[in-house]
Amino acid sequence: MQTSFTEAQLRDPDTAESNRILRTCVHCGFCTATCPTFVLLGDELDSPRGRIYLIKDMLENDRPATPEVVKHVDRCLSCLSCMTTCPSGVNYMHLVDHARRHIEETYDRPVHEKALRKVLSLVLPYPGRFRLALLGAMAGRPLARFIPGASVLAGRLRAMLKLAPASLPPPSAVERPGTHRAVGPRRGRVALLTGCAQQVLAPSINEATIRLLTRMGLDVIVHQDQGCCGALDHHMGHHDPAMRLARANIEAWHEEIRGKGLDAVVINASGCGTTVKDYGFMFRAEAPEVAARAAAVSALAMDVTEVLTKFGYAPAREKPGLTVAYHAACSLQHGQRITTLPKDLLKRAGFAVKEPAEGHLCCGSAGTYNLMQPEIAGQLRDRKLANLDRTRADLIAAGNIGCLTQLAGGAMPTVHTVELLDWMAGGPEPAAVAAARAAKRAAA
Ligand code: SF4
Ligand code: SF4
Repeated sequence: MQTSFTEAQLRDPDTAESNRILRTCVHCGFCTATCPTFVLLGDELDSPRGRIYLIKDMLENDRPATPEVVKHVDRCLSCLSCMTTCPSGVNYMHLVDHARRHIEETYDRPVHEKALRKVLSLVLPYPGRFRLALLGAMAGRPLARFIPGASVLAGRLRAMLKLAPASLPPPSAVERPGTHRAVGPRRGRVALLTGCAQQVLAPSINEATIRLLTRMGLDVIVHQDQGCCGALDHHMGHHDPAMRLARANIEAWHEEIRGKGLDAVVINASGCGTTVKDYGFMFRAEAPEVAARAAAVSALAMDVTEVLTKFGYAPAREKPGLTVAYHAACSLQHGQRITTLPKDLLKRAGFAVKEPAEGHLCCGSAGTYNLMQPEIAGQLRDRKLANLDRTRADLIAAGNIGCLTQLAGGAMPTVHTVELLDWMAGGPEPAAVAAARAAKRAAA
């Protein structure tokens, strides 16, 4: 694709990168077929290629974002399905990240929209605040069906209340800062990102991760200064808050790297993993020592399934006689290109594994997308659940808390992959397995 940025524009590192990305696109349109919003809406402007043209026009002309650009970029899930389809290697992720930042800097959103984004930014990354907000949403959940109207605001309020869980587990002690010692001879030392929303919604995921890793001979560090990875703000175009959160993690893990050393930074929410693996890029234009620290953290970042494979996961129980429908989170399969490891581990653990049709399509979770675009997210959820149901499996496993929340409440119980692996390695039975077994007995 030809571009015509001026030399002055290209002195900005983000514009220079977007220029490079735009020039790799050859307009072939292969990406349209695998883009969830194009599949649903059938509008070229809701396809990757259409969005690329809109972004190019906006950036090249140094123009404030228009309502049309905002509408179509906001509808993008950042699922990155287009990136794994593209034969030319177009880095759509960095392009749309730049566009979202430009939109936030130049577009005056309606007041209710700005307020919602601000609230999400102030609440979701902080477990204490998120817990309080969820308790409020749980109390208001029965009222969701009484919220009248077809307005955007009414739809979002209904979506928020519906997504609130029926109950909330208490905070887990394992997430407190400290070191969880290796069981037996020590084989390595890793830091764990305990996350933000995940530790409130499902602390059992971090508990299972720590049990598994320590059992495999790894010291697991939960650093007191690590927190939200910044992805939620980053995907809303909130540059400064995202960088502040990311910087805190980089400094925390740098302290560990410089001290006793780290073999990995382990992430068990794939949406966060994609972002931590991108810290090196996000900080590339900072002071050289900061950029180097960010790059070092990104180089150490590993999804938990990569760590389990590297250190040799081995089950300790008999085969459970259960079939798992594996839902590939977009951030894992498209963002990090991890496709076979989770399935191989589940098979090694003794599960029969099935994959749904249209496995490349997003479930509609996508960070805050299911709150901001509830209609499209709802359609994608229904489509995903229908495909998962057709596998006739006993339960659904996925490696991302956003997907698990989005797919909860369907015909099959949902569980994080790592909880199944921990159970088969000697950990406690996950609640989803108990539910799946009860359903099996009832159907027999
Ligand atoms: S990131 Fe996903 S929704 Fe956005 S353009 Fe690419 S395929 Fe479409
Ligand atoms: S598949 Fe790649 S090269 Fe082709 S239109 Fe899409 S982004 Fe451009």
